[in-house]
Amino acid sequence: MTRTTTSAGQAGEAGRAAESARAGESAQLVSTDPADGSVVATFSVDGPAEVADAVARAREAAAWWSGLDFAGRQRCLLRWAAHLTQHADELTELTRRENGKPLDDAYLELVLTLEHIRWAAKNARSVLRSRSVSPGPLMSNFAARVEQRPLGVVGVIGPWNYPLYTPNGSIAYSLAAGNTVVFKPSEHTPAVGRYFAEAFHKANPEAPQGVLATVQGAGETGAALCRSGVDKLAFTGSSPTGKKIMASCSETLTPVLVECGGKDALIVADDADVSAAAEAAAWGAVSNSGQTCVGVERIYVVRSLRERFVEALARELRGVRAGESYGPMTVPSQVDIVREHIEDAWSYGAKAVVGGSDSVRAPFVDPVVLVDTDEDSAAVREETFGPTMTVRTVDSVDEAVELANATSYGLASTVFSRNRGMEIARRLRAGATSINSVLGFAGIAGLPFGGVGESGFGRIHGSEGLLAFSRPHSIARQRFAVPGMALMSFRRSAATMRIIKRVIAFRHGRAK
Ligand code: NAD
Repeated sequence: MTRTTTSAGQAGEAGRAAESARAGESAQLVSTDPADGSVVATFSVDGPAEVADAVARAREAAAWWSGLDFAGRQRCLLRWAAHLTQHADELTELTRRENGKPLDDAYLELVLTLEHIRWAAKNARSVLRSRSVSPGPLMSNFAARVEQRPLGVVGVIGPWNYPLYTPNGSIAYSLAAGNTVVFKPSEHTPAVGRYFAEAFHKANPEAPQGVLATVQGAGETGAALCRSGVDKLAFTGSSPTGKKIMASCSETLTPVLVECGGKDALIVADDADVSAAAEAAAWGAVSNSGQTCVGVERIYVVRSLRERFVEALARELRGVRAGESYGPMTVPSQVDIVREHIEDAWSYGAKAVVGGSDSVRAPFVDPVVLVDTDEDSAAVREETFGPTMTVRTVDSVDEAVELANATSYGLASTVFSRNRGMEIARRLRAGATSINSVLGFAGIAGLPFGGVGESGFGRIHGSEGLLAFSRPHSIARQRFAVPGMALMSFRRSAATMRIIKRVIAFRHGRAK
């Protein structure tokens, strides 16, 4: 449905593309290379009518797709992964151009995406299998089963920072659970989204169009998808947009899964390997230009290790530069937020031990490490989403845990401790924790992914991710009638009730 052109265009288009997409006023969506503004692709914007058509086609395709057995769907998903692998150079180059990240980082994102497609494909049968449930003594003449059914059509709305990995957590798991998908990629990475969806159909030419389709546009297209009657809406993006998604979906009581932002903390405990912690902090905060929902934004280090840690962190970041080690900021307006947070931290008395006022040179931002940042500053309270981090000295791990948890977000966290990692992790209010590594949980497909508080709710990935895109159907089958024990019948007798009261007194009435 969406007309597209792909071309190497002229510099200077980036701002215009982003503006027209954000305002939703233009019928055209132009995606651009954030490094130089050259045009990557042009799409016509899909309005409510086009979105409704896409959902209708997905609903037709759902009959075919859900009619395949697990093995049939697994075959299609693995063929899709094979196609993406065989065309990795083309896809990673497109990701580099549209998102700005270096080719190797784009490849690593693809690797994680492939692992999830495989995990979902291979595990759907065992996770979603029909299972019997004990009927309990009062209903022992029954057989009870739970069967997981697909929901139907799932709408997926994605962000731009990991344009494959992030929406795929909803897409692959929805497909493996037997749903079809209408995917609205970010307006900043529409070509990557289209490539990803088209690859499924290229790999599976027998599949009817609509098993995995895209609609293109900014917020208004997303809102139309929320209101289109899809059976679930899986959103990944910022917390303010997550709230709008919930409001739109509430009109039709469409269930939602909401994966939002974070302000993740890294704790360096007294028994930490300082050098490993510094290496992890540097990469966790700065890679992908800091545009990682589960990236490190705040660091709490115990006083005894502070000097060594800050020195090691500065050493790690020596020579790490935007445009060489990592790419430009993908969205121009994000540069202003990063600059504001740095300046706000300074106004609260923070010192930069890495970087300074010349670190922000749009569209690039070099690493900035802010020490002794006040907990009230925006750099500590709000998601920065840039290659910056705050470091605060704490007197104890208890204080570190308290400050780490003192946020409205609760997405992920990192702990460096040789002996107390599990104990500290268990006290953190977050959806995930990586101990003695950074982002470890994101590479393990079987681990559920999602947050608490303003970071959202619901889980993608792992068994929970498959269950999120299915619905339980409970079935109770009476195997035989027990004479005189008809409880749910107008034939129930006084004698039946006397027996029941004796049984219940014996069963529940004896606890001391
Ligand atoms: P965003 O909220 O601006 O946009 C996300 C998506 O929502 C886009 O596709 C956008 O077009 C769409 N959208 C915007 N307004 C809408 C509306 N009113 N109705 C429906 N759809 C609408 O977020 P972004 O800038 O693309 O992504 C960055 C944010 O995403 C950061 O906060 C980051 O932390 C978060 N994120 C979270 C995760 C996670 O798994 N928790 C992963 C990646 C990114």
